[in-house]
Parts: sequence; C-alpha cells; structure tokens
Amino acid sequence: MTGARPRVAVVGAGPSGLYAAAALAASGPAVDVDVLDRLPAPYGLVRYGVAPDHVKMKSVIRVLGRPFGPGEVRFLGGVAVGTGPGEVPLAVLRDHYTAVVHASGSAVDRCLGIPGEDLPGSIGSGAIVGWYCGHPDHGTAPRLDSPAVAVVGAGNVALDVARVLARAADELVATDVPDAVLDALRASAVRDVHVLIRRGPQQVKFTPVELRQLGDLADAEVVVHDDGVLDGGVPDDVADRHERANLATLTEWAHSTPGAAHRHIHLHFLRSPVRILGTERVTGVVVERTELTPDGRVRGTGEEETLDVGLVVRAVGYTGQPITGLPFDVATGTVPNAVGRVIDADGTPVPGQYVTGWIRRGPTGVIGTNKHDAVEVAASVLADLPSLPAPRTNPDDLARVLAEHDVRPVDWSSWLRLDAEEIRLGQARGAERVKVAELTEMLAAVHGADVRR
Ligand code: NAP
Repeated sequence: MTGARPRVAVVGAGPSGLYAAAALAASGPAVDVDVLDRLPAPYGLVRYGVAPDHVKMKSVIRVLGRPFGPGEVRFLGGVAVGTGPGEVPLAVLRDHYTAVVHASGSAVDRCLGIPGEDLPGSIGSGAIVGWYCGHPDHGTAPRLDSPAVAVVGAGNVALDVARVLARAADELVATDVPDAVLDALRASAVRDVHVLIRRGPQQVKFTPVELRQLGDLADAEVVVHDDGVLDGGVPDDVADRHERANLATLTEWAHSTPGAAHRHIHLHFLRSPVRILGTERVTGVVVERTELTPDGRVRGTGEEETLDVGLVVRAVGYTGQPITGLPFDVATGTVPNAVGRVIDADGTPVPGQYVTGWIRRGPTGVIGTNKHDAVEVAASVLADLPSLPAPRTNPDDLARVLAEHDVRPVDWSSWLRLDAEEIRLGQARGAERVKVAELTEMLAAVHGADVRR
C-alpha cells in the first residue's frame, strides 16, 4: 500500500465490532479506525439484547467504550450501510477505507414453520427483547392482555423473556427499561408463562446461572412439567458439569411444594408447538408431545394438547442478514470466511472485506466469546493492510460523501449527550439510567435537547 495511513471501518458498534476496533487500535497510531452503527447509540446487543435485570452483564460497556475519545477511534452513529434510502452503499466504504470489518450480528429471528405463525400475537424474541430493551425499531408493546403466554425454546433468550414477563414490574424500576415498558408490565394480565422445550431436561441450552435465576423472582415460581423424567435425580453417568447443575436445579424445583406466588413459569419438557390457533389474533397453541430417537433427534408422538395463550414468542435462535455485495451462506446465516477474511464460493478472499462476531460464526456464545474472535480477525486485517490498495478518497471527503447519501453521523461527544440525558432520566426513577427508546427523542438528546418526562 502507498500513500496515507490505512483506514479501517468497523460496521456495527456491538460487542464484536467494539472488541475488533480495540484490537485494531491497539496496533498503534498507524491505523485509523472508524466504528459505524445505524443507531445513534453504541453497544449493540449489550444495550439492546442483554435483559434489563442483568445489570452486571452490562458493566462490560465500560471496557467496550474505552477506545473512543479525541484522536482515537471515531464513532459514526446513525450510519446504516445498505442500499435503501438514507443508507450508505458498501461501495462507498470500499472507496474510503482500506478495509471494512463487518460486525452486524444476527438480527433475524428464526421461524418455527408452523401454521398460525403469522397471526398477530405470534412474535419472534427479537421484537420483545428489543421492546423491553428500548430499541427504537421495537416500540410496539407485545400483547400482554391474556393471562397466559407461551415462549418456545430452551436457550438463554427464552429464559430472559420468561423471566422479564414473570417479574413484578416493581422489580424493574431500578433498571434501564423505558418508562413505557414499565407501564405496560404494570398493566400486564400475564399470570402463566409456558416455556415449551422440545427435548428433555438434560438437553437444554440454558446456562446454569441463568436457569437458577428463574427461581429468584419476587412473586413468581417455577413449575416443572417433566412427566416424571426427573424422578430419579441427577443420573451418575451425566459427566458434563453444566448438565449436572441444570438437572440438579430442575430436580429441586420438580420436587418442591407450590407456594403462593401470583405468577408461574411452567417448564414443559418434550413438548413442541405444532399449530398456533386464532383468526384475528393468537388464542392458543397446540403442543405435541415429543420423544428423542436413539440418535438424539426430536420426533413427535402424535399426542397433542392445547394451551390457551394470547401471545407466542419464539426464542429459537437467530440468523444473519445478507450484506449486499458480499457472499452469504443461507444455511448458516453467516458470511463465508477464513479467519475473518470474507471468501467467495471458490474460497478466494474478497480483498479488504472481513467479518467478526455472530455474522462470522453464527449466533452462539456469550459476550466475551466475541473478544477472542475479534482479536483473531484484527490480526488478519493487520497482516493484510500492507498489501491492500490505498483508499480512493481523502480522509476529509467522508462527511461530504455521507451527506450525498443524506447521512449526517452522530459522533462520540454527541452520543455522550444522549448518555447523560438517560442518566438524568434515571435519577428521577432511582435507576442508573432510563433508556430513551424513540429515535426522534434519541436524536433530540444527541443534539442537546432534554427529553421531557
Ligand atoms: P440457543 O441457545 O441456540 O437456543 C435456541 C433454542 O431453541 C434451543 O433450545 C433449540 O432447541 C430451540 N429450538 C430451535 N428450533 C426450534 C424449534 N423449531 N422448535 C422448538 N425449539 C426450537 O439460542 P438463543 O437462546 O437465541 O441464544 C443465542 C446465544 O446468546 C446463546 O449462545 C446464548 O447462550 C446467548 N445468550 C446468553 C445470555 C446470557 O448469558 N444471559 C442471554 C441471552 C443469550 P434444540 O436444542 O432442540 O435445537
């Protein structure tokens, strides 16, 4: 490469993008790093995916925000990369940056593929998680006007959703949930949350600490529907310590005497939804009893029961969205890559294009998993930079080029104004912060206006 210093754009200010930016910046002042995000706020899934009551988990923000500051990594919020109106085509980034690291995650909910899934009241976990986390795309409250809801899945997202719906609203006052979310939870008619788990207690994907937390709610208790599977306690031949811990917790709950809580979280094992009922909206879900084949597959038994529920949330995992201009593997929902280098169908690297995080490896792992991933991908970028062509545009051209696409980025100091406003709103409620969820209000705060309450 000749000429000016190499410039790297990281697309996505979630944990994977920010770990990548930190790893690139740690290489010294020889590389300029910009982090772009379509929202005016950074932190991606930490801000918009971690449940509000997981306060400790959010403290990673202190680490993730470190690279930003005068003369360091730049934040360009409100910059969406894409082909729609107000979006910046990838070609523009290719012209302006030596390399682009895509860290756009896996934003699309997987579907169940069963009848009734499109009815109002049947939603993906992204909608409800986004709602209680104050994501500007998910301002619509889920239907909480029926006494029972179903949550499909046995991963940590299913646990998060079940827990938040079963909590007394007062337990969330000191968290960052927007006021409107608190109001909707206060008015919620939900008394029973049915978690539908298609395999047995040993096969759940819950992590033990998160599962245990379900038993710590102020006014809700767990009811285990295991058809006697847990009668014998934890079998001696279960070697995995996570499986043992989960089985011990579930066995304890299965044998406990019901208390007087107003809400119940029902864990239904070996049950899979086969039809969602309703005409205008969801009124129930037909659930089939399942069994596991000797090779571990799930098979229906034909035995069905109906649960009367007004809301069905599928928490069955996520998939990535294709990035226009890059190859995409539909089966895995990821961008094909070799150590983060985007590769085309015959394995040839696409020059200057990289992926990290869930769009690289799929939606698994905890926040910290992305750090290792990002360090590895940053090493690939840094190794390649000397052989990549110099950007075609000058550093100062960016603002003009973005303006041509009707995009005016939000910089770090502007985000800090919104940050300060959320902290101010939090003080009034006894919380560390209260999220501003509407985009217009976010932008007003970014430009220095108070968000009225
Ligand atoms: P996940 O861990 O992959 O769990 C998805 C669940 O959906 C599995 O139990 C799966 O069952 C089930 N499922 C898939 N298709 C289904 C179908 N057609 N019918 C019924 N069930 C179906 O995904 P996730 O919960 O979305 O979590 C994503 C990642 O984020 C995970 O790594 C998770 O640990 C992490 N996360 C962590 C936290 C935390 O640490 N607190 C919070 C949220 C998320 P099978 O096993 O049978 O396929």
